[in-house]
Amino acid sequence: MAHFVIVGGGLAAGKAVERLRKEGFDGDVTVVAGEQHPPYQRPPLSKGYLQGEEGLDAVILHPAEWYGEQRVELRTGVKATALDVAGHRLSLDDGSSLAYDAVLLATGSSPRRLPLEGADLEGVRMLRTLDDSDALKAELSGGGRRLVLIGSGWIGMEVAATARTLGNEVTVLERDPVPLAAAVGSEMGAVFRDLHLEHGVDLRASVNVERIAGSARATAVVVDGEEVPADLVVIGVGAVPNTSLADEAGIDVSNGIVVDQTLRTDAADVYAAGDVANAYHPVIERHLRSEHWDNALKAGSVAARSMLGIAASHDSIPYFYTDQFDLGMELSGYAPLMKDAQVVTRGDVGSREFIAFWHDGTRVVGAMNVNVWDVQDKFKKLIRQATPVSADRLRDESTSLDDLA
Ligand code: FAD
Repeated sequence: MAHFVIVGGGLAAGKAVERLRKEGFDGDVTVVAGEQHPPYQRPPLSKGYLQGEEGLDAVILHPAEWYGEQRVELRTGVKATALDVAGHRLSLDDGSSLAYDAVLLATGSSPRRLPLEGADLEGVRMLRTLDDSDALKAELSGGGRRLVLIGSGWIGMEVAATARTLGNEVTVLERDPVPLAAAVGSEMGAVFRDLHLEHGVDLRASVNVERIAGSARATAVVVDGEEVPADLVVIGVGAVPNTSLADEAGIDVSNGIVVDQTLRTDAADVYAAGDVANAYHPVIERHLRSEHWDNALKAGSVAARSMLGIAASHDSIPYFYTDQFDLGMELSGYAPLMKDAQVVTRGDVGSREFIAFWHDGTRVVGAMNVNVWDVQDKFKKLIRQATPVSADRLRDESTSLDDLA
Protein backbone atom coordinates (compact mmCIF):
# COMPACT_ATOMS: atom_id res chain seq x y z
CA MET A 1 0.00 0.00 0.00
CA ALA A 2 1.35 3.47 -0.89
CA HIS A 3 2.63 5.61 1.98
CA PHE A 4 2.46 9.40 1.77
CA VAL A 5 4.31 11.49 4.35
CA ILE A 6 3.53 15.12 5.11
CA VAL A 7 6.12 17.15 6.99
CA GLY A 8 4.77 20.19 8.88
CA GLY A 9 1.93 21.03 11.21
CA GLY A 10 0.48 24.13 9.62
CA LEU A 11 -2.38 24.93 7.28
CA ALA A 12 -0.74 23.53 4.15
CA ALA A 13 -0.12 20.20 5.89
CA GLY A 14 -3.65 20.03 7.30
CA LYS A 15 -5.30 20.85 3.98
CA ALA A 16 -3.14 18.29 2.16
CA VAL A 17 -4.32 15.52 4.51
CA GLU A 18 -7.93 16.57 4.06
CA ARG A 19 -7.62 16.57 0.28
CA LEU A 20 -5.87 13.17 0.11
CA ARG A 21 -8.79 11.51 1.86
CA LYS A 22 -11.41 13.57 -0.04
CA GLU A 23 -9.91 12.34 -3.30
CA GLY A 24 -10.33 8.78 -2.06
CA PHE A 25 -6.69 7.93 -1.34
CA ASP A 26 -6.85 4.87 0.89
CA GLY A 27 -3.12 4.31 1.38
CA ASP A 28 -1.16 5.15 4.51
CA VAL A 29 -0.65 8.78 5.52
CA THR A 30 1.74 10.03 8.20
CA VAL A 31 1.95 13.64 9.34
CA VAL A 32 5.23 14.63 11.00
CA ALA A 33 4.38 17.83 12.88
CA GLY A 34 7.24 19.54 14.70
CA GLU A 35 5.01 21.32 17.23
CA GLN A 36 3.03 19.61 19.99
CA HIS A 37 -0.30 20.56 18.38
CA PRO A 38 -2.25 19.02 15.51
CA PRO A 39 -2.07 21.17 12.34
CA TYR A 40 -3.43 24.68 12.93
CA GLN A 41 -3.81 28.08 11.30
CA ARG A 42 -2.00 31.17 12.51
CA PRO A 43 -4.02 34.33 11.63
CA PRO A 44 -5.99 34.37 14.93
CA LEU A 45 -2.72 34.22 16.92
CA SER A 46 -2.16 37.96 16.50
CA LYS A 47 -5.85 38.91 16.42
CA GLY A 48 -8.93 37.27 18.01
CA TYR A 49 -7.12 34.45 19.81
CA LEU A 50 -4.49 36.81 21.26
CA GLN A 51 -7.27 39.17 22.32
CA GLY A 52 -9.14 36.35 24.04
CA GLU A 53 -12.18 36.70 21.78
CA GLU A 54 -11.63 33.41 19.96
CA GLY A 55 -10.77 30.02 21.34
CA LEU A 56 -8.72 27.08 20.15
CA ASP A 57 -11.52 26.00 17.84
CA ALA A 58 -10.71 29.03 15.64
CA VAL A 59 -7.11 27.88 15.43
CA ILE A 60 -6.88 24.07 15.30
CA LEU A 61 -8.04 22.63 11.96
CA HIS A 62 -9.20 19.25 13.28
CA PRO A 63 -8.96 17.73 16.75
CA ALA A 64 -6.37 14.95 17.17
CA GLU A 65 -9.12 12.24 17.07
CA TRP A 66 -10.06 13.27 13.52
CA TYR A 67 -6.71 12.00 12.25
CA GLY A 68 -7.40 8.58 13.80
CA GLU A 69 -10.84 8.51 12.19
CA GLN A 70 -9.21 9.30 8.85
CA ARG A 71 -6.59 6.56 9.37
CA VAL A 72 -3.85 9.17 9.41
CA GLU A 73 -0.91 8.72 11.76
CA LEU A 74 -0.33 12.09 13.38
CA ARG A 75 3.07 12.37 15.03
CA THR A 76 3.20 15.68 16.91
CA GLY A 77 6.34 17.02 18.60
CA VAL A 78 8.52 15.12 16.12
CA LYS A 79 10.82 16.78 13.59
CA ALA A 80 12.08 15.44 10.30
CA THR A 81 15.86 15.77 10.28
CA ALA A 82 16.99 14.38 6.91
CA LEU A 83 15.52 13.45 3.57
CA ASP A 84 17.11 10.73 1.44
CA VAL A 85 15.58 11.40 -1.95
CA ALA A 86 17.25 8.46 -3.71
CA GLY A 87 16.24 5.99 -0.98
CA HIS A 88 12.78 7.56 -0.50
CA ARG A 89 13.31 7.72 3.26
CA LEU A 90 12.79 10.45 5.87
CA SER A 91 14.70 10.48 9.18
CA LEU A 92 13.07 11.84 12.33
CA ASP A 93 14.53 13.33 15.50
CA ASP A 94 13.14 10.47 17.64
CA GLY A 95 15.66 8.17 15.94
CA SER A 96 13.13 6.47 13.64
CA SER A 97 12.75 6.79 9.88
CA LEU A 98 9.88 6.49 7.41
CA ALA A 99 9.91 5.00 3.92
CA TYR A 100 7.68 7.04 1.60
CA ASP A 101 6.21 6.81 -1.87
CA ALA A 102 5.65 10.57 -1.92
CA VAL A 103 6.52 13.27 0.59
CA LEU A 104 5.19 16.81 0.99
CA LEU A 105 7.41 19.43 2.61
CA ALA A 106 5.08 21.94 4.27
CA THR A 107 7.56 23.23 6.81
CA GLY A 108 6.48 26.88 6.66
CA SER A 109 8.67 29.72 7.81
CA SER A 110 10.23 31.02 11.01
CA PRO A 111 10.53 34.57 12.34
CA ARG A 112 13.61 36.37 11.05
CA ARG A 113 16.13 36.90 13.86
CA LEU A 114 17.63 40.33 14.42
CA PRO A 115 21.31 40.38 15.27
CA LEU A 116 20.56 42.87 18.03
CA GLU A 117 22.27 43.17 21.41
CA GLY A 118 19.77 42.12 24.08
CA ALA A 119 17.53 40.14 21.70
CA ASP A 120 18.01 37.05 23.89
CA LEU A 121 16.95 38.76 27.14
CA GLU A 122 13.92 37.55 29.08
CA GLY A 123 10.84 39.48 27.96
CA VAL A 124 11.88 39.67 24.30
CA ARG A 125 9.49 37.71 22.14
CA MET A 126 8.65 36.73 18.58
CA LEU A 127 5.24 35.54 17.42
CA ARG A 128 4.86 32.50 15.22
CA THR A 129 3.37 29.62 17.18
CA LEU A 130 0.31 28.92 19.28
CA ASP A 131 2.60 28.65 22.31
CA ASP A 132 4.10 32.10 21.49
CA SER A 133 0.59 33.54 21.32
CA ASP A 134 -0.42 31.92 24.64
CA ALA A 135 2.66 33.37 26.32
CA LEU A 136 2.00 36.85 24.91
CA LYS A 137 -1.66 36.66 25.87
CA ALA A 138 -0.70 35.85 29.46
CA GLU A 139 1.38 39.06 29.59
CA LEU A 140 -0.96 41.41 27.71
CA SER A 141 -4.49 40.35 28.62
CA GLY A 142 -4.67 42.34 31.86
CA GLY A 143 -3.57 45.59 30.16
CA GLY A 144 -1.29 48.18 31.72
CA ARG A 145 1.97 46.79 30.28
CA ARG A 146 4.46 48.75 28.19
CA LEU A 147 4.89 46.83 24.94
CA VAL A 148 7.54 47.86 22.44
CA LEU A 149 7.30 46.36 18.96
CA ILE A 150 10.32 46.34 16.71
CA GLY A 151 9.10 46.25 13.10
CA SER A 152 5.82 47.36 11.59
CA GLY A 153 4.96 44.56 9.20
CA TRP A 154 1.58 42.85 9.30
CA ILE A 155 2.28 40.87 12.45
CA GLY A 156 3.76 43.85 14.29
CA MET A 157 0.80 46.06 13.39
CA GLU A 158 -1.75 43.40 14.31
CA VAL A 159 -0.11 42.74 17.69
CA ALA A 160 0.04 46.51 18.27
CA ALA A 161 -3.70 46.82 17.60
CA THR A 162 -4.59 43.85 19.80
CA ALA A 163 -2.34 44.92 22.66
CA ARG A 164 -3.67 48.47 22.54
CA THR A 165 -7.27 47.20 22.50
CA LEU A 166 -6.42 45.21 25.63
CA GLY A 167 -5.35 48.45 27.34
CA ASN A 168 -1.58 48.32 27.05
CA GLU A 169 0.83 51.15 26.22
CA VAL A 170 2.20 50.35 22.78
CA THR A 171 5.21 51.76 20.96
CA VAL A 172 6.08 50.65 17.42
CA LEU A 173 9.60 51.28 16.13
CA GLU A 174 10.08 51.20 12.35
CA ARG A 175 13.18 51.74 10.22
CA ASP A 176 11.18 52.83 7.13
CA PRO A 177 9.37 56.18 6.95
CA VAL A 178 5.94 54.51 6.76
CA PRO A 179 4.69 51.21 8.22
CA LEU A 180 3.81 48.39 5.80
CA ALA A 181 5.46 50.30 2.95
CA ALA A 182 7.08 47.10 1.65
CA ALA A 183 3.70 45.36 1.54
CA VAL A 184 1.32 48.04 0.23
CA GLY A 185 3.49 51.08 -0.60
CA SER A 186 3.82 54.37 1.28
CA GLU A 187 0.42 55.83 0.38
CA MET A 188 -1.57 52.87 1.68
CA GLY A 189 0.89 52.29 4.54
CA ALA A 190 0.00 55.81 5.71
CA VAL A 191 -3.64 54.70 6.14
CA PHE A 192 -2.50 52.12 8.70
CA ARG A 193 -0.11 54.63 10.33
CA ASP A 194 -2.95 57.11 10.88
CA LEU A 195 -5.24 54.37 12.19
CA HIS A 196 -2.69 53.38 14.84
CA LEU A 197 -1.87 56.98 15.79
CA GLU A 198 -5.57 57.71 16.29
CA HIS A 199 -5.84 54.72 18.61
CA GLY A 200 -2.99 55.93 20.78
CA VAL A 201 -0.16 53.77 19.47
CA ASP A 202 3.17 55.62 19.71
CA LEU A 203 4.37 54.89 16.20
CA ARG A 204 7.91 56.10 15.52
CA ALA A 205 9.06 55.81 11.92
CA SER A 206 12.52 56.29 10.34
CA VAL A 207 14.24 55.24 13.55
CA ASN A 208 17.27 53.09 14.17
CA VAL A 209 16.95 50.51 16.94
CA GLU A 210 20.41 50.16 18.50
CA ARG A 211 19.95 47.54 21.22
CA ILE A 212 17.69 46.18 23.90
CA ALA A 213 18.80 47.18 27.37
CA GLY A 214 18.54 45.22 30.62
CA SER A 215 20.54 42.69 32.60
CA ALA A 216 18.32 39.61 33.01
CA ARG A 217 15.11 41.03 31.60
CA ALA A 218 14.56 43.64 28.89
CA THR A 219 13.83 47.03 30.44
CA ALA A 220 14.14 49.39 27.48
CA VAL A 221 14.78 49.56 23.75
CA VAL A 222 17.50 52.00 22.80
CA VAL A 223 16.50 53.87 19.68
CA ASP A 224 18.62 56.68 18.23
CA GLY A 225 20.27 57.12 21.61
CA GLU A 226 16.99 57.35 23.53
CA GLU A 227 15.69 54.67 25.91
CA VAL A 228 12.09 53.59 25.36
CA PRO A 229 10.99 51.76 28.54
CA ALA A 230 9.54 48.29 28.02
CA ASP A 231 7.94 45.54 30.10
CA LEU A 232 7.83 43.41 26.99
CA VAL A 233 9.46 43.61 23.54
CA VAL A 234 8.17 41.84 20.44
CA ILE A 235 10.39 41.61 17.38
CA GLY A 236 8.46 41.23 14.11
CA VAL A 237 10.78 41.76 11.17
CA GLY A 238 9.60 39.17 8.68
CA ALA A 239 10.03 35.45 8.23
CA VAL A 240 12.43 33.08 6.50
CA PRO A 241 11.36 29.82 4.83
CA ASN A 242 12.31 26.56 6.60
CA THR A 243 14.26 25.01 3.75
CA SER A 244 17.00 23.06 5.54
CA LEU A 245 15.57 19.58 4.80
CA ALA A 246 15.40 20.33 1.09
CA ASP A 247 18.72 22.16 1.05
CA GLU A 248 20.59 19.29 2.65
CA ALA A 249 18.86 16.79 0.35
CA GLY A 250 20.24 18.66 -2.69
CA ILE A 251 16.82 19.90 -3.84
CA ASP A 252 16.72 23.21 -5.72
CA VAL A 253 16.27 25.99 -3.15
CA SER A 254 16.16 29.67 -4.04
CA ASN A 255 14.02 31.98 -1.91
CA GLY A 256 12.21 28.84 -0.71
CA ILE A 257 11.93 25.36 -2.19
CA VAL A 258 11.60 25.77 -5.95
CA VAL A 259 8.56 23.96 -7.35
CA ASP A 260 6.61 23.98 -10.59
CA GLN A 261 2.94 24.92 -10.83
CA THR A 262 1.95 21.40 -9.69
CA LEU A 263 4.14 21.97 -6.58
CA ARG A 264 6.62 19.26 -7.56
CA THR A 265 10.29 19.82 -6.66
CA ASP A 266 13.20 18.73 -8.84
CA ALA A 267 13.51 15.49 -6.77
CA ALA A 268 11.30 12.51 -7.63
CA ASP A 269 8.16 12.23 -5.49
CA VAL A 270 9.01 15.27 -3.34
CA TYR A 271 6.53 18.16 -3.24
CA ALA A 272 6.45 21.47 -1.35
CA ALA A 273 3.59 23.80 -0.41
CA GLY A 274 2.79 26.87 1.68
CA ASP A 275 5.20 29.51 3.00
CA VAL A 276 8.21 27.33 2.21
CA ALA A 277 7.50 26.91 -1.52
CA ASN A 278 8.63 29.24 -4.28
CA ALA A 279 6.13 28.11 -6.90
CA TYR A 280 6.02 28.87 -10.60
CA HIS A 281 2.90 30.91 -11.27
CA PRO A 282 1.58 30.11 -14.74
CA VAL A 283 -0.36 33.38 -15.13
CA ILE A 284 2.49 35.78 -14.42
CA GLU A 285 5.08 33.31 -15.70
CA ARG A 286 7.48 33.67 -12.81
CA HIS A 287 8.12 32.09 -9.45
CA LEU A 288 6.26 33.51 -6.46
CA ARG A 289 6.64 32.75 -2.75
CA SER A 290 3.60 33.84 -0.81
CA GLU A 291 3.53 33.92 3.00
CA HIS A 292 -0.23 34.09 3.29
CA TRP A 293 -3.02 32.01 4.78
CA ASP A 294 -4.91 31.62 1.51
CA ASN A 295 -1.80 30.40 -0.29
CA ALA A 296 -1.23 27.65 2.30
CA LEU A 297 -4.93 26.74 2.18
CA LYS A 298 -4.98 26.26 -1.60
CA ALA A 299 -1.46 24.91 -2.04
CA GLY A 300 -2.05 22.08 0.43
CA SER A 301 -4.91 20.82 -1.74
CA VAL A 302 -3.02 21.27 -5.00
CA ALA A 303 -0.01 19.35 -3.62
CA ALA A 304 -2.24 16.48 -2.47
CA ARG A 305 -3.81 16.19 -5.90
CA SER A 306 -0.42 16.24 -7.57
CA MET A 307 0.82 13.52 -5.22
CA LEU A 308 -2.14 11.42 -6.39
CA GLY A 309 -1.31 12.03 -10.05
CA ILE A 310 -4.43 14.19 -10.57
CA ALA A 311 -3.89 17.22 -12.83
CA ALA A 312 -3.60 20.28 -10.56
CA SER A 313 -2.16 23.75 -10.91
CA HIS A 314 -1.45 26.31 -8.19
CA ASP A 315 -2.55 29.32 -10.18
CA SER A 316 -4.72 31.33 -7.79
CA ILE A 317 -4.22 35.07 -7.35
CA PRO A 318 -2.43 35.71 -4.03
CA TYR A 319 -4.90 36.92 -1.40
CA PHE A 320 -4.31 38.42 2.04
CA TYR A 321 -6.45 39.88 4.79
CA THR A 322 -5.92 41.74 8.04
CA ASP A 323 -8.00 43.13 10.90
CA GLN A 324 -6.67 46.00 13.01
CA PHE A 325 -8.88 48.01 15.38
CA ASP A 326 -12.03 48.78 13.36
CA LEU A 327 -10.32 48.32 10.01
CA GLY A 328 -10.87 45.18 7.98
CA MET A 329 -8.93 44.77 4.76
CA GLU A 330 -8.61 42.24 1.95
CA LEU A 331 -6.05 42.39 -0.84
CA SER A 332 -5.59 40.34 -4.00
CA GLY A 333 -2.76 40.80 -6.41
CA TYR A 334 0.61 39.85 -7.73
CA ALA A 335 3.13 41.50 -5.40
CA PRO A 336 5.99 41.63 -7.94
CA LEU A 337 3.74 43.43 -10.46
CA MET A 338 2.28 45.78 -7.84
CA LYS A 339 5.66 47.27 -6.91
CA ASP A 340 5.84 49.63 -9.92
CA ALA A 341 2.09 50.13 -10.40
CA GLN A 342 0.14 53.33 -9.71
CA VAL A 343 -2.30 53.30 -6.78
CA VAL A 344 -5.77 54.49 -7.84
CA THR A 345 -8.45 54.88 -5.15
CA ARG A 346 -12.24 54.95 -5.20
CA GLY A 347 -14.24 55.99 -2.13
CA ASP A 348 -13.17 57.95 0.94
CA VAL A 349 -9.63 57.11 2.03
CA GLY A 350 -9.90 59.58 4.95
CA SER A 351 -12.83 57.73 6.51
CA ARG A 352 -11.14 54.40 5.79
CA GLU A 353 -13.90 53.05 3.59
CA PHE A 354 -12.45 52.68 0.13
CA ILE A 355 -10.99 50.55 -2.62
CA ALA A 356 -7.44 50.83 -3.95
CA PHE A 357 -6.41 49.45 -7.31
CA TRP A 358 -2.84 48.89 -8.43
CA HIS A 359 -2.86 49.90 -12.10
CA ASP A 360 0.12 49.11 -14.31
CA GLY A 361 -0.86 51.66 -16.96
CA THR A 362 -3.11 49.20 -18.77
CA ARG A 363 -4.73 46.81 -16.34
CA VAL A 364 -5.29 46.06 -12.67
CA VAL A 365 -2.59 43.90 -11.03
CA GLY A 366 -3.76 44.27 -7.41
CA ALA A 367 -6.89 45.44 -5.57
CA MET A 368 -7.62 46.12 -1.92
CA ASN A 369 -10.89 46.77 -0.13
CA VAL A 370 -10.87 48.57 3.20
CA ASN A 371 -14.09 48.30 5.23
CA VAL A 372 -15.91 47.51 1.99
CA TRP A 373 -17.09 43.93 1.57
CA ASP A 374 -18.11 41.28 -0.98
CA VAL A 375 -15.94 42.67 -3.77
CA GLN A 376 -13.01 40.25 -3.85
CA ASP A 377 -14.56 37.92 -6.45
CA LYS A 378 -14.97 40.90 -8.77
CA PHE A 379 -11.37 41.98 -8.19
CA LYS A 380 -10.03 38.51 -8.85
CA LYS A 381 -11.95 38.36 -12.11
CA LEU A 382 -10.62 41.79 -13.10
CA ILE A 383 -7.04 40.81 -12.31
CA ARG A 384 -7.23 37.37 -13.90
CA GLN A 385 -8.84 38.58 -17.13
CA ALA A 386 -6.28 41.40 -17.37
CA THR A 387 -8.95 43.49 -19.08
CA PRO A 388 -7.56 46.88 -20.21
CA VAL A 389 -9.13 49.62 -18.09
CA SER A 390 -8.18 53.27 -17.55
CA ALA A 391 -7.26 54.73 -14.16
CA ASP A 392 -10.11 57.26 -14.57
CA ARG A 393 -12.66 54.48 -14.94
CA LEU A 394 -11.32 52.77 -11.82
CA ARG A 395 -11.69 56.01 -9.87
CA ASP A 396 -15.16 56.78 -11.15
CA GLU A 397 -17.71 55.54 -8.61
CA SER A 398 -20.52 55.76 -11.16
CA THR A 399 -18.91 52.85 -13.03
CA SER A 400 -20.05 49.68 -11.33
CA LEU A 401 -17.35 47.24 -10.25
CA ASP A 402 -19.15 44.60 -12.34
CA ASP A 403 -18.61 46.68 -15.45
CA LEU A 404 -14.87 46.97 -14.95
CA ALA A 405 -14.10 43.32 -15.76
P1 FAD B 1 3.32 27.07 8.92
O1 FAD B 1 2.01 27.55 9.38
O2 FAD B 1 4.54 27.86 9.27
O3 FAD B 1 3.51 25.59 9.46
C1 FAD B 1 4.69 24.87 9.28
C2 FAD B 1 4.83 23.87 10.39
O4 FAD B 1 5.88 22.96 10.06
C3 FAD B 1 5.23 24.48 11.72
O5 FAD B 1 4.39 24.00 12.72
C4 FAD B 1 6.65 23.99 11.94
O6 FAD B 1 6.98 23.80 13.30
C5 FAD B 1 6.62 22.67 11.21
N1 FAD B 1 7.95 22.20 10.81
C6 FAD B 1 8.98 22.94 10.31
N2 FAD B 1 10.05 22.14 10.06
C7 FAD B 1 9.68 20.89 10.42
C8 FAD B 1 10.35 19.63 10.42
N3 FAD B 1 11.62 19.50 9.99
N4 FAD B 1 9.69 18.55 10.87
C9 FAD B 1 8.40 18.65 11.29
N5 FAD B 1 7.72 19.81 11.32
C10 FAD B 1 8.36 20.91 10.90
N6 FAD B 1 -1.69 35.30 6.62
C11 FAD B 1 -2.77 35.95 6.10
O7 FAD B 1 -3.04 35.82 4.89
N7 FAD B 1 -3.56 36.74 6.87
C12 FAD B 1 -3.32 36.93 8.19
O8 FAD B 1 -4.05 37.66 8.83
C13 FAD B 1 -2.21 36.27 8.76
N8 FAD B 1 -1.93 36.41 10.08
C14 FAD B 1 -0.85 35.78 10.62
C15 FAD B 1 -0.59 35.96 11.96
C16 FAD B 1 0.52 35.34 12.54
C17 FAD B 1 0.79 35.54 14.01
C18 FAD B 1 1.37 34.53 11.75
C19 FAD B 1 2.59 33.88 12.38
C20 FAD B 1 1.12 34.35 10.41
C21 FAD B 1 0.00 34.97 9.83
N9 FAD B 1 -0.30 34.81 8.47
C22 FAD B 1 -1.39 35.45 7.93
C23 FAD B 1 0.54 33.97 7.61
C24 FAD B 1 0.00 32.54 7.55
O9 FAD B 1 -0.31 32.12 8.83
C25 FAD B 1 1.07 31.65 6.92
O10 FAD B 1 1.19 32.02 5.57
C26 FAD B 1 0.69 30.18 7.06
O11 FAD B 1 0.77 29.80 8.41
C27 FAD B 1 1.61 29.28 6.27
O12 FAD B 1 1.23 27.96 6.48
P2 FAD B 1 2.23 26.75 6.24
O13 FAD B 1 1.44 25.52 6.47
O14 FAD B 1 2.94 26.92 4.97
O15 FAD B 1 3.37 26.90 7.36
